Amino acid sequence: MAKGRVEIYTEACKSCLYCVNTCPKHVLGTTSAVNSKGYQYAVPVNPDDCIGCAMCATICPDAAITVYREVG
Ligand code: SF4
Ligand code: SF4
Repeated sequence: MAKGRVEIYTEACKSCLYCVNTCPKHVLGTTSAVNSKGYQYAVPVNPDDCIGCAMCATICPDAAITVYREVG
């Protein structure tokens, strides 16, 4: 199965949580940390479960997520 890795540009995150609710593998969540605009940003809380499907990046309205697919 394809493995993936997500990077979140936390300063662009507006805490809409679309990515958290969309990820089929429950990879994403939030912490209590906030960015400079005061938004509680999304983070990969279960990074090892990412399959690289990129649904999170597709749905993010602020283009804050980049997905890298790892082969092998
Ligand atoms: S790429 Fe897919 S599995 Fe990985 S965090 Fe995004 S939605 Fe979840
Ligand atoms: S979809 Fe984008 S803006 Fe919304 S919580 Fe996720 S990373 Fe942040």
